Amino acid sequence: MYNKDNVFAKILRGEIPNKTIYSDDYVLAFYDVNPRAKVHALVIPRGEYTDIFDFTQNAPAELQMAFWNGVRAVVEKLGLRDNFRTIANTGRGAGQSVMHFHIHIMSDERFTEDF
Ligand code: AMP
Repeated sequence: MYNKDNVFAKILRGEIPNKTIYSDDYVLAFYDVNPRAKVHALVIPRGEYTDIFDFTQNAPAELQMAFWNGVRAVVEKLGLRDNFRTIANTGRGAGQSVMHFHIHIMSDERFTEDF
């Protein structure tokens, strides 16, 4: 169940500042406050979805399409085209700490771990 007190909900309501990379009616993308790569951005939908399956099963198609366009907009804007990773931690066991669906976009000069 979605909790409106999560930090990304607060960011969407303007209660917490963020370093915005891209914004439109459907998505917001901003820099991760605790970067774990040279470039570490987050993309979130403007809607109440806890994780990837909540989003893909319950969000309108228009929002889902716009979300991936938002991911692409960040990649283009930051010039990451052929060197980035997307990660969607899902569930506490995988380290999801904010229960508002988000995609991490990470880029480094060279990734040392392959997975
Ligand atoms: P996850 O652990 O996959 O749920 O990712 C949540 C991410 O949100 C972490 O990488 C945090 O560093 C990041 N984060 C938490 N609070 C903020 C904030 N106020 N602004 C930007 N990023 C944040």
